[in-house]
Amino acid sequence: MIKRVRGTQDILPQASGSWQEIEEVARRIFSLYEYQEIRTPIIENVSLFNRSLGETTEIVQKQMFQVKHEKDHLVLRPEGTAPIVRAYLENNLDKLKTVNKLYYLGPMFRAERPQKGRLRQFHHLGVEAIGSIMPQLDVEVISLADRILREAGITEFQIYLNTLGCPKDKAKLSYQLQKKLSSQVSHLCSECQNRLNRNVFRVLDCKNAACQKVVSGLDLNHDYLCSDCNEHFRAVIDGLKSINIDYKISHTLVRGLDYYTQTIFEIKHQELGAQDALGAGGRYDNLVAEFGGASSGAIGFAFGIERLLLVRNNQQSDTKDFKRSVYLVTLGTEANKKGVQLLHNLRINNICADTDYATRSLKAQMRKANDSGAKYCIIIGENELERGLFSLKDMESGQQKDISEANLLNEISNLVPNHRS
Ligand code: AMP
Repeated sequence: MIKRVRGTQDILPQASGSWQEIEEVARRIFSLYEYQEIRTPIIENVSLFNRSLGETTEIVQKQMFQVKHEKDHLVLRPEGTAPIVRAYLENNLDKLKTVNKLYYLGPMFRAERPQKGRLRQFHHLGVEAIGSIMPQLDVEVISLADRILREAGITEFQIYLNTLGCPKDKAKLSYQLQKKLSSQVSHLCSECQNRLNRNVFRVLDCKNAACQKVVSGLDLNHDYLCSDCNEHFRAVIDGLKSINIDYKISHTLVRGLDYYTQTIFEIKHQELGAQDALGAGGRYDNLVAEFGGASSGAIGFAFGIERLLLVRNNQQSDTKDFKRSVYLVTLGTEANKKGVQLLHNLRINNICADTDYATRSLKAQMRKANDSGAKYCIIIGENELERGLFSLKDMESGQQKDISEANLLNEISNLVPNHRS
C-alpha cells in the first residue's frame, strides 16, 4: 500500500467541516477589516526565499523542498510573505492603491522533523498589509489576529510583542547579543556556538534547555532603539492599549528571518506544548525595496491552521455535522429510475437530498435514512409508483403520509430549509 508522505496529513470528511468553519471565520473577519484575498503559486524560484529570508536561516539552510526541473531551480513555498511581495511588485499592485491589504490561505512546505503540531505540509492563514509605515497599521494587524482567534472561540492565548528597530538598531541588538552570549558560550549547544557569529538571533529561538536557560538569564532592554523606532513602538503600544488588546513585551522575541524590522509579535497557546506558537508576524519595511520596488512599509502575520484547530477542537466538543434534509428510499428498478428524476428536481429547487446507491431492503435503507440525520424520508415503492403517489415520512415524529408526485416538491419546500438561504 502506498502511504502518504511523512509529515503530511489527509484532511478527511470528518475533519474538513472544522477546516471550513475556521476558514469562514477568517474570511469574514478579513473582509470586515477590508483585506482582499491573494493567491500565489505554490512553486516559486529558490532565489526568492534565499535572498529575503536570509542564507543563515533554518528554513533556507535545511527546510526547503527543492524541485530541479531542466534549468529551473524551484522550491515549494515555505512561507507566504516573500511570494506576496513578489506578486505585489510583479503585478504593479503598488500603482493601484497606496496601501494594499491582502490576505491568504494555503499550504506551506518545510522539511522539518515531524512531531505534534509540526508538519512538512501545513497551512497558513495570514495577511500582508503593504504600503504604510504608520504604527496604526501595526495596531490594526495585531488586533485583526486577536479578533480572528476570539471569533474562532480560542481564548487562552497570549500575544508577545517586541521590536527590532530599523536595520541599524537591529545590527546594534545583534552586536549586544553576541557580546552577552559570548561570555557564556560554553553553556550553549554546539549549533548555537556556530550561530553566535552567523545569526545570533537564532540562539534565542533554540529549543535546547541549556540554551533557553542562558537566554532567559539575559538582561535585555530596548536601549538599542533609535528615537524614531522607540517612538514607533510606543505608538503601537498606546494603540493596543486604547483598544484593550492584551499583550506582553518579550525582549527575547526576535523572529529569525532577515526581513523583519521594527514591530514583531508571536501568539502562543499553552495547550500546544513544545510547538506553542499559534501564529506570528511583524514588520518588514525594507523587503519591497530589496525586491526592486519603492521603499514601502509593510506588516503581516500568519497563523498555522492545524494549530488553531488543535486548540479549538479541545475547547469545542462538537463540530457542525452536515445534516441532509431529505433522504430518498427506492425499491425496485422503476423506482430507482424515478429516484434519479426526483433527486434532480429536489436539488434544482435547492433542497438538500441524498440516497444510498445500493440495492438494499426497505429496512436497511430506512436504517441508513435514520443514520443520515435527514429530517424527511421519501419512499418510492412499486405500489406507490403505480398509484402516482410517494410516501413522505417525518423522521422525528415517525408519521408517514402519501403524497402525489405533483404536490411533493411544494410540500417539501415548505418543510425544509432552502440550501441557498
Ligand atoms: P512562521 O512562519 O514559522 O512564523 O509560522 C507561522 C505559524 O505557522 C506558526 O506560528 C505555526 O502556527 C505555523 N507553523 C509553522 N511551521 C509549521 C509546521 N512545520 N507545522 C505546522 N505548523 C507550522
